Formats: sequence, C-alpha cells, structure tokens
Amino acid sequence: MKTVWIASGNLHKVEEFQRMLKNVEVKCLKDLDKDIEIIENGKTFEENAIIKAMSLYNVIHQPVFSDDSGIEVDAMDKKPGVHSARWMGEDTSYDIKNQAIMDAVEGKDRTARYVCVIAFIDEEGNPYTYRATVEGEIYDRPLGNKGFGFDPIFYYPPFGTTLANVSEDMKNSISHRGKALEMFLAEWGDKL
Ligand code: IMP
Repeated sequence: MKTVWIASGNLHKVEEFQRMLKNVEVKCLKDLDKDIEIIENGKTFEENAIIKAMSLYNVIHQPVFSDDSGIEVDAMDKKPGVHSARWMGEDTSYDIKNQAIMDAVEGKDRTARYVCVIAFIDEEGNPYTYRATVEGEIYDRPLGNKGFGFDPIFYYPPFGTTLANVSEDMKNSISHRGKALEMFLAEWGDKL
C-alpha cells in the first residue's frame, strides 16, 4: 500500500483524510522520528499550505499534502484570514474570539467565508494547490454546540442555521475542507 504523508500533527485531520483516502496509508508528523520546524509565515493560504507540505517533503522525499484554512470577515478587511488559528492568541477561548467578531460586524456587512487550501507535493517535489470556500454570514449570537472554532457564529443561509447546529456529515458535505479534499481527490485519487 502506498504511503502519503500529511504535514499536520492534528489527529482529527489525519482521521478525516484517512477516511477519504481509502487506498493509501496516511502518515503524519507524529509518525516521524524527529521534530521538524514549520514556520507558517506566508501571506496567503496557498503559501502557508505549501510551506507546511514542503517542510515535510524536504525531510522525507515522498508525496505530502497539507491544508491551511481560516475565516475571512468582510467588514474586518478579510481578517483574521490566514492568521485565524493564532488571532487574539492561541489560548484565548473561541467564546471571546467569536464575541469580538460579532462586535466588529455590528451594524455592518455580515458576510464572511471559510477558506481551505490543500497543497500537494508529488514524488518529484512539484507543488499543486486546491482552494475551496463556503460563503456565510456572522450570526448575532452563538448558536449550536457542534463543530469547532467559529462555527457557532457562522450562519450558512442554505441550512438556515449556523454550522455548529448541524451534524458533522452535513457540515462536511458543504464545507471548505470537504470541497477542497474532493478537488484534490478528483485529480489524485487514482494516481496515489
Ligand atoms: P489551520 O489548522 O492552520 O488550518 O487553522 C485553521 C483555523 O481556522 C482554525 O484554528 C480555526 O480557527 C479556523 N477554522 C478553519 N476551519 C474552520 C471550521 O470549519 N470551523 C471553524 N473554524 C475553522
């Protein structure tokens, strides 16, 4: 069985990708016998996804993929964007972060989107990226207890509720990450 590496230590992501990549074994940073330093200093989701994947490829020289994601709030000049994971500090709770976003959009445009870019580095070291988005609005209060991060305030009009208020399967069927994965699989699923 072929092995594809994912430049992440997040076991939730590893499981999600392994579920979709049935014919390959997915390995992650936790399977490496050494620590590698990944400095996510890109200005775009594409740059950061490639930085993550390349940092690992340069060590193992086997196919690697990675993902980078975040939320863009239009009334906040598309922030937190690529800084979503660290915005207001990694240890600050999402209750506080979500309240800050609701305050920032009060009386303004409420449109926002989740963005996900998957980067893939093939065996020869060539990079490819796949971007998907999901358009929504910042709700006026947190709603629901599923999902994670900004989901309680991310209202998705076609569902008529927030992404924290629907099942995981329902969210995955329209999510930025699910769609980017499908784009990646459409091109690489048979070749891996
Ligand atoms: P990454 O692991 O560097 O891609 O960080 C992505 C960050 O964006 C997360 O830590 C969340 O803050 C946010 N984010 C990305 N996708 C989602 C989602 O599906 N729901 C809620 N927050 C998300």
